[in-house]
Amino acid sequence: MSELNLILLGPPGSGKGTQGERLQEDFRLPYYATGDILRSAVKEGTEIGLKAKEYMDRGDLVPDEVIIEIIGERVQREEAQDGFILDGFPRTVPQSEALGKEMEDLERKLSAALLIEVSDEEVVRRLGGRRTCAANGHVFHIEFNPPKEEGVCDLDGSELLVRDDDRPEVIKRRLQQFHEKTSPLAAYYDEKGILQHVDGDRPPDVVADEIRGTLATIRREEEI
Ligand code: AMP
Repeated sequence: MSELNLILLGPPGSGKGTQGERLQEDFRLPYYATGDILRSAVKEGTEIGLKAKEYMDRGDLVPDEVIIEIIGERVQREEAQDGFILDGFPRTVPQSEALGKEMEDLERKLSAALLIEVSDEEVVRRLGGRRTCAANGHVFHIEFNPPKEEGVCDLDGSELLVRDDDRPEVIKRRLQQFHEKTSPLAAYYDEKGILQHVDGDRPPDVVADEIRGTLATIRREEEI
């Protein structure tokens, strides 16, 4: 079977994380989410975390060179030899060019860029209602997945908080950054013939089925 090197594109709150985790289970490939990697660096107080925090708290993108180094190291890992799933990277044209160069150096190719499309209104509804548990990061939603007791995590009893970057003014900024810096990547990957559109306004199971179908088609075409 050929390798499967996937990238997930889409605004914050489009469900990239949910779909990425499912793909990881389906295909048994490593899943690298730059947002998660940066948040744990912030929590651990590493040098990268200290550098990234101020950008993340504002809803800005962290500088390209910081993130390019993190991902460059990961795609070369032994565990990623049969493929990988990238969520939240690349997010700018220089990042996509750096990834392209890295793939070329490794004599590998990206299989698909899945663009999960969701309206700005839906993003605000999803992220604005999200509550994250203080202890372990378990995620709830006041409307779609409320905890049994308001403000308390069902799983570990810790307090549920609004993530710093889920505050309304930061959501607005993250969306602005997406439209300005990440949207151009759709044209970039379309030109390379690997862009796939996914309607992310539907329930996660339906989106997951569509993605499975798309990837099955890609693999069949590769085998021909
Ligand atoms: P996410 O959880 O993917 O929405 O990422 C949270 C935050 O991490 C973003 O708002 C950025 O500040 C930062 N971040 C994540 N991935 C990248 C990236 N590829 N380039 C720059 N900043 C990023």
